Amino acid sequence: MKPNHHLDNSTILAYAAGTLNEAFTVVAASHIAVCPSCRAAVRAAEALGGELLDVMADTPVSSDCRASTLAALDQATLHRLPVPAPRSQLPVPLARLIDAQGFEDIVWKKKAPGVSMFDVKLPAMARGQLKLLRIAAGRAMPEHGHGGEEITLVLKGAYRDHMGRFAQGDVADLDEDIEHKPVVETECDCICLVATERPTRFKSLAARIIQPFVGI
Ligand SMILES: [Zn+2]
Repeated sequence: MKPNHHLDNSTILAYAAGTLNEAFTVVAASHIAVCPSCRAAVRAAEALGGELLDVMADTPVSSDCRASTLAALDQATLHRLPVPAPRSQLPVPLARLIDAQGFEDIVWKKKAPGVSMFDVKLPAMARGQLKLLRIAAGRAMPEHGHGGEEITLVLKGAYRDHMGRFAQGDVADLDEDIEHKPVVETECDCICLVATERPTRFKSLAARIIQPFVGI
């Protein structure tokens, strides 16, 4: 698999710096696992971060701050995430969050004709929303924009929009100004992992009216 659509530079930098929110991190890590060019970009960003730390002047901290930080480290425990089964169809960062071996084990919720969804439960305090979207073969989604940034990773099947063809491993790393109307190819259903900051913003009045009911 060699993806054709990649993570944005700002996403790569935030991922390398550890400041990307939890929902986006799951999608970014799942893409990076299958994409040598984004992996190389993350390594370069991490090296740049290391250089910056080296050239920064030392900042003195109070003895109170130092003592409370060391005490907090003493209290810290290592949280181990469950290791997914080796033959899971799902990317490892996602398989850690879902009790399913494959897409057929997932309890999909039908949201509209040809559109099903599964909310991925993130750990408490995690930022962002993460969901799996399953769109039937040949189906078109209504034209929509996004209330904030959104990253979509194709896990199965393929769709096309004005930016091209998105197949397994490809990411659409969209900011809030982009509106698109994806159409799924006719061979099989398309399953995507979608991280959003805020709910999707549909363009047509009809789609906006049904949106609260379908919950996408
Ligand atoms: Zn990539």
